[in-house]
Amino acid sequence: MATFSYPQQNPHADSISTTFSPGFVIDGLIPDLEITSADAIHFHVHSERLLAVSNNAFGGLLHRPVYALAVPQPATVLNVTLNIIYGMSCLPNPPSLESTEAALDALIKYGITLTQLAKPSYPLYELIRSYAPYYPIEAYAVAAHHKLEELAAAISAHLLAYDLSRISDELTIKMGPLYFSRLANLHRSRMTALRNIVLQPPATHPVTPLCNLDSQREVSRAWAFANAELIPPRCAESMPTMATSATDISTYALESTFTNAAASVQCPDCRMMLHNRIEEVKYQWTAVKTTI
Ligand SMILES: [Zn+2]
Repeated sequence: MATFSYPQQNPHADSISTTFSPGFVIDGLIPDLEITSADAIHFHVHSERLLAVSNNAFGGLLHRPVYALAVPQPATVLNVTLNIIYGMSCLPNPPSLESTEAALDALIKYGITLTQLAKPSYPLYELIRSYAPYYPIEAYAVAAHHKLEELAAAISAHLLAYDLSRISDELTIKMGPLYFSRLANLHRSRMTALRNIVLQPPATHPVTPLCNLDSQREVSRAWAFANAELIPPRCAESMPTMATSATDISTYALESTFTNAAASVQCPDCRMMLHNRIEEVKYQWTAVKTTI
């Protein structure tokens, strides 16, 4: 019986990158340099392109003309690195955050300034921001670590409900004290803003045969009750991170909290005053800053 066996070697050995192939033509030019990753994948690139963005001749590897070189990064990391250099989006085939972080380190090693490639709408910006909905604190730490200000600000909007008391030492160190305290200040300032916005109860209406000033106190009491539910006093004053869910409260949740608290109020004028006040609160809350 005929037998067949697969070769006992790395199945990727001597593979060629799909994108960075010998036919990867940019501005009418074919590649003049072959870079081999640590796991033996070959990437065909343009040395001029690499030299144009690097301030150290691509880590010194291109100080003199060469046609082939090997780098210590695995193909997944080298692929991200080259995509960023060429200004091509990585999102169709998104790498892990770890691979992206390794690619950032590689870019720095090869003399490429991250801030110039991480401007809003650039592929590097979009790549790091794409992690924000899933790994907000990790993505924030990466942006902060590399001082990518616009990215860190954009990602911070995903951290309004993040409990900072849960953050690991490793992430705190990575983002540094400045970006950590800016995040804490964002939480604190939103908590203070919310407390101030909801402080004032609905206005009273002129006394009617149906409703005197005494009965109108029912609305104020309901308002105060909802207030205490939203922001427990001890959290508001001393431990802002314990009430972070309030810093991320939606206008819908605000509305239902105050509407439900006053559900028993029957007077149509009181209900109108309540409605107007809730609309004011919603408007003011949406105007509060959501980023560092
Ligand atoms: Zn009334």
